[in-house]
Amino acid sequence: MVQLFEELADRGHEGLWFASDPKTGLRAVIGVHSSLLGPALGGTRYRDYATVDEALTDVLRLSRAMTYKAAAAGLPLGGGKAVVIGDPRTDKTEELLEAFGRAVDALGGTYVTAEDVGTTVEDMVVVARSTRHVTGLPVAMGGSGDPSPVTAHGVLAAMQATSEHLWNTADLAGRTVAVQGVGKVGGTLVELLVEAGCEVVAADVDRTAVDKAVGELGISAVDASEILEVPCDIVSPCALGASINPKTIARLRCKAIVGAANNQLGDAADADRLAEVGILYTPDFIANAGGIINIVDELSPGGYSPERALERVRKIADTTTEVLERASRNGTTTRRAAVAIAEERLASARAAR
Ligand code: NAD
Repeated sequence: MVQLFEELADRGHEGLWFASDPKTGLRAVIGVHSSLLGPALGGTRYRDYATVDEALTDVLRLSRAMTYKAAAAGLPLGGGKAVVIGDPRTDKTEELLEAFGRAVDALGGTYVTAEDVGTTVEDMVVVARSTRHVTGLPVAMGGSGDPSPVTAHGVLAAMQATSEHLWNTADLAGRTVAVQGVGKVGGTLVELLVEAGCEVVAADVDRTAVDKAVGELGISAVDASEILEVPCDIVSPCALGASINPKTIARLRCKAIVGAANNQLGDAADADRLAEVGILYTPDFIANAGGIINIVDELSPGGYSPERALERVRKIADTTTEVLERASRNGTTTRRAAVAIAEERLASARAAR
C-alpha cells in the first residue's frame, strides 16, 4: 500500500474516507485535499482500477488538482474527489450509488460530489436520494445539468485570451485549430470555433464522432495518430490526459496549446519543455475551469442561473491573461505562474483564519 500518511502530509491533504458496503459491493474512497476556501467539490470517478493503490493515487492526485483549479478561478470552493472501484458498465447499480450517497452524506458537506468519468447526471440523481451534498443534477431538478457545453465556452475564452497575448487580437478568425477529441466538450468547441471563423482540423479515435463533425460543420479531419503534428496556430487537447509529453512535444507544429483535457502534460517538466521550444501552454486547469464554475453556480442563494454561470465562465479569459502575463513578467512557465496564483489565494485564506 502507498505510504498513506506520508502521501497525505506530502501533498497537504486534509483527509481520506473509505466507504465499504458489502451488500452492494461499494468500495469507494473520498479524498478531501482542502476545504480552506469552501466545500471540497469534485466529481466521482467510477473506474475499474487494477489495484487499490492505483485508486488511492488517483484520488490524491485528482483532489489536489481540484483545489488548484477552484483557487485559480477565484471560486469559494476547496478541492475534493471520490473514486469508486469497479467497472461502471457492469457493477454500477442504484443500490450501490445510494450507498455511496450515504458515505458522502456522512461527511456533512465537507465534500460535495458531482459526475466525472464513469458517472453521469442520471447517476447523481440516484446519489441525491441519500445526500443533498451533490451537484450537477439535471436542470429540471434545479441543477446545472451537463457542464460540457459550458466548459467548451470556457476553453474558447481561454483561446481568445491566448490569442490576444500572442497576436494582439482576441479575434480567432482565420486561425487554424487542431482539436484532439470531439466528445462532449470537443464537439461543442469545434462548433464555437467554426462560428468564430477558424479553420478546424479534428481527430477522434471514434471515427463516427469525427465524421459527424465533418459532415455537419465542413471541418477537416485527420487520423487520431496525426492530430498533434498538424501545422496550426493552436492545438486543443480535448481527449484524455498526458497527451503532451516529450515524444509528442517533438512533433508539435503549433504556437499554442489550449484545451479541455485534464492533466494534459505527462509531467510538470513538460511545461519547461514546451517553453524551450517556444510553444505557449495555457494550463489545463485554467482553460477547463468552466465545468466547475458552472456547477458552483448551483450553490448560489437563488439557485442556478445559466446566464450568470456563462458570464462567470467567460471570465476565464481574464484569468488566462493574468497567468500568461505573470509568466512573461517573471520569466517562468505558465504552469508555475498558474500554481502560484492558486497558492497565493490559499495562503491569504489561511492567513485570514
Ligand atoms: P468525452 O468522453 O465526451 O470525449 C472525449 C473524446 O476523446 C471521445 O470522443 C473519445 O473517443 C476521444 N478520444 C479518446 N482518446 C483519443 C485519442 N487518443 N485521440 C483522439 N480522440 C480521443 O469527454 P469530455 O467530457 O468531452 O471531456 C474531454 C476532456 O476534458 C477529459 O479529459 C475531461 O476530463 C476534461 N474535462 C471535461 C469537462 C466537462 O465539462 N465535460 C470539464 C473539465 C475537464
